[in-house]
Amino acid sequence: MIKLRIITFSALVLIFSCTDQKKEDTTTKKLAVNYDRSGGIVNHNSSPHIKLKSIEIGDCKWTEGFWADKFKMAEEIMIPHMGTLFKGDIGFAYDNFKKAAGLKEGEAGGKWWHDGDFYKWMEANMYLYAQNGDEKLMDDLDEIIEIIGKAQEEDGYLSTHVQIKKAKRWDNILQHELYNCGHLYTSASIHYRVTGKTNFLDIAIKNANYIYSVFQPQKPEMARFGFNPSQIMGLVELYRTTKDKKYLELAEIFVNMRGSVEATEHSTVPYMFIGDHNQMRTPLREAKEAVGHAVLANYLWAGAADVYAETGEQAIIDALERIWSSAVEKKMYLTGAQGQTHHGASGRFDMVHEAFQEDYLMPNSTAYNETCANISNAMFNYRLLSVKGDAKYGDIMELVMYNSALVGISVEGKDYFYANPLRMNKGDGERNYESATTERAERVPYIPVFCCPPNLARTIAKLSGWAYSKSKNGIAVNLYGGNVLETVLLDGSKLKLKQETNYPWDGDVTVTIKEAKKEKFEILFRIPEWAEGTKIMINGTEVDNKIVPGTFAKIERLWKAEDIITLDIPMDIDFIEGHPLIEEVRNQVAIKRGPLVYCIESPDLPENTKILDVYVSKKAELKANHRPDFLGGVSTIDGEVLLRPDLATGMYRKLQEPNWKKTETSFVPYFAWSNRGRSEMTVWMPIVWE
Ligand SMILES: [Zn+2]
Repeated sequence: MIKLRIITFSALVLIFSCTDQKKEDTTTKKLAVNYDRSGGIVNHNSSPHIKLKSIEIGDCKWTEGFWADKFKMAEEIMIPHMGTLFKGDIGFAYDNFKKAAGLKEGEAGGKWWHDGDFYKWMEANMYLYAQNGDEKLMDDLDEIIEIIGKAQEEDGYLSTHVQIKKAKRWDNILQHELYNCGHLYTSASIHYRVTGKTNFLDIAIKNANYIYSVFQPQKPEMARFGFNPSQIMGLVELYRTTKDKKYLELAEIFVNMRGSVEATEHSTVPYMFIGDHNQMRTPLREAKEAVGHAVLANYLWAGAADVYAETGEQAIIDALERIWSSAVEKKMYLTGAQGQTHHGASGRFDMVHEAFQEDYLMPNSTAYNETCANISNAMFNYRLLSVKGDAKYGDIMELVMYNSALVGISVEGKDYFYANPLRMNKGDGERNYESATTERAERVPYIPVFCCPPNLARTIAKLSGWAYSKSKNGIAVNLYGGNVLETVLLDGSKLKLKQETNYPWDGDVTVTIKEAKKEKFEILFRIPEWAEGTKIMINGTEVDNKIVPGTFAKIERLWKAEDIITLDIPMDIDFIEGHPLIEEVRNQVAIKRGPLVYCIESPDLPENTKILDVYVSKKAELKANHRPDFLGGVSTIDGEVLLRPDLATGMYRKLQEPNWKKTETSFVPYFAWSNRGRSEMTVWMPIVWE
């Protein structure tokens, strides 16, 4: 229904633009006719080097269960509430555009990159609109877009802090000019796809043309730019929308610039960010290791994957696979989080910030794990899933979403975490949160560095777009959740299906075919690597395919309406241990059930129990218990833990026999911790081998 309405509206816009805007530049008009409105969030429709192509925005809608509930939270609370922050005196962002447009007096508020954060929030609204068709959301954006247009300079430049402060353009990478542009391009491309209007896209194109004039030909003094390079993904999306190859060329230039000049002091780069921090020490095509700022890194890799999808350059995908292996297999937390340290050193001893550090160096209490880094890890993995068609990337995407992304927002939808440690101490051992910029002991309603909240808002709002992909002759189920899918397969045939499940609280998934072509096609089901023993039934009969966890189970047949596919995914409770080189988790275990990592939190322990007193027996009998009215509706894992109150003194002391106390408790999903006031929490606990 919504789709039809959008198409009609688009046609009206075209008629309107042809008849009423006679003064419009004829080149723009000609281009407008050629713009590509089709495509998903990441538009793969014409990408030659993609195995699993994105579904169109709005093709999949959550109907019930976990992600439907989270979408509703985002739709009703998180995104509108964030809008009042951004438009008011706390969030500054909208006012910055008004000030740059000369419509308001005053200093620039927030940070240099705040424009980009505002574009992300706008993008989140577009995904809501694609699902709920609420025209008011887009009417409100039109008002905002008009102001943004007024803020844009004649030559296309747009970065409000630089404009309001009358700072010199391209003076320092920390001005985040390209980060702002990148989010503008992505947001404007999505806006065009969901509305058919070019008002936002025109601003993006004008800006990208200006950026092209700045960076092409490449100037040596500009070679260090591209800090927090969201512009690479944005430019590829702009290319996919307009088909203008210069945007792809520009995206490739920004990939080529990494490591193109010696990592020495330069006026555009602060001393502490020279080298690995900004992925500048090694050309991307030669990189073997995940280094530096974890958001910058994942944005660069995701952008490079987008470039590969268009160019098919082998050296790029080879490098990305090596980097993935380093990032995911040696530097990632159990929750899918990345960026072990706030301030530290790379393996080559460059100073780094909010960054990866050495392999297996995984502190829990001081883990940085910026919500944006975790989300961008999922973005990178979604792109590799699309390029390679390998389920292992879908596993990481899912892991991040259920754990290290979702932990960034409270159950209610108004309070945020920026840093996401795996342990929280109170009192003795507590960090100095008073003087921290981004680390907090509990979620807060506003973070002066406000990049993560709108990033999470847009990701929750768009997640149904990641739930399925189109394969060569069929459909891939990437994520499980109650939804309806109505899409057109790559051969042009219609497919409609319905998914019903209470995943991840239980592992029964039912997919009913509602409409399908009359020829054979495949349905690929991602079988998570933890899901040993998964069974698949068709109309009640078990399939004889060998089901291999960590791969897609491919079922190809002649499907007909009302065929029912049932998946029985075991939701076992597992103890997890770490590689012996991870010193921080030696002889400790974490609890995982399905895609969810669990933690233990002080409200679930006897009064005055310290979180570090908690041990767990290998023989503990643990049971999942669904509690619809607890923490927004979660399954807890209930069982007995051992307590060893630490009564000894001194940093080091002679070993004492433990005097165990036992207590019944509940483990809660990691994403749901810190919703009951200031607490202590840990994911990892020492194991007792009784
Ligand atoms: Zn962030």
